[in-house]
Amino acid sequence: MAPCIVFDVYKAPGSNITPQEFSRHVAQVHRVWGDQCNFDIRWRFQDSQGRPRLQDIGGPIVTHGLIPDGLIPPEALPFAPPELFEGPPNVLVCGDYNALPDNVLNPGSDPSYIKQWLNYRPGIPFDPNIPQSRFGQTRPLDIAVYYVQGPLLGDGSLGCGGYYTPSGPAIVIANNLPTINVPNVGEFTFPRTDLILAHEFGHVLLQGLPEAGHVDDVNNIMFRGLLTANSFRVTPDQCNEARKSQYFQEC
Ligand SMILES: [Zn+2]
Repeated sequence: MAPCIVFDVYKAPGSNITPQEFSRHVAQVHRVWGDQCNFDIRWRFQDSQGRPRLQDIGGPIVTHGLIPDGLIPPEALPFAPPELFEGPPNVLVCGDYNALPDNVLNPGSDPSYIKQWLNYRPGIPFDPNIPQSRFGQTRPLDIAVYYVQGPLLGDGSLGCGGYYTPSGPAIVIANNLPTINVPNVGEFTFPRTDLILAHEFGHVLLQGLPEAGHVDDVNNIMFRGLLTANSFRVTPDQCNEARKSQYFQEC
């Protein structure tokens, strides 16, 4: 028995995550926290080859409607898809789980819609004929990840790590905006970094630090701004702090 981290990863309706992009996020988690800190990181939902996979889940469906001001440059705004700005029934704010807003903008819906979904982490029932199901029961020490449509309300960041629910910690990763083509000007792209899951995981590990571990070094995974391809480093101090996390479990 050795300490390990276990992820339960879900794909909600409307998420644009593909298996290919998800496998890149997984690779970066191992590169950053596995290789540099020597953490044993495991993925509860696997395909028949033992590769991490996304488990479909029914929600939350977070609708478009509130793109933060300034995220789309003014010259591109007239060419942005109108569905990005449709009314906002489900509001997801990166912050305290218990302070998540009720779903008041969607009359008749369950007021705790978002909270319920982030508190829900279904596993796979045990079936002796399905080897992967042996490991399929989720636990409160698992780190649940929900890829959702989005957006998250706030400054335009795509990830939130994390919400601390009664069922355990939850990371949310929203869709990036689509590419906007502006005639005679060019394309505006809004990429989602492959480092996003490694960064949000870092927040869960470092939740006891100020700003849940943000730093000023652009080459560090916990950089507070836009991550670059080189923002993958962790320091020995960060590894030592992360190693104290309550979310290590016996494997
Ligand atoms: Zn951050």
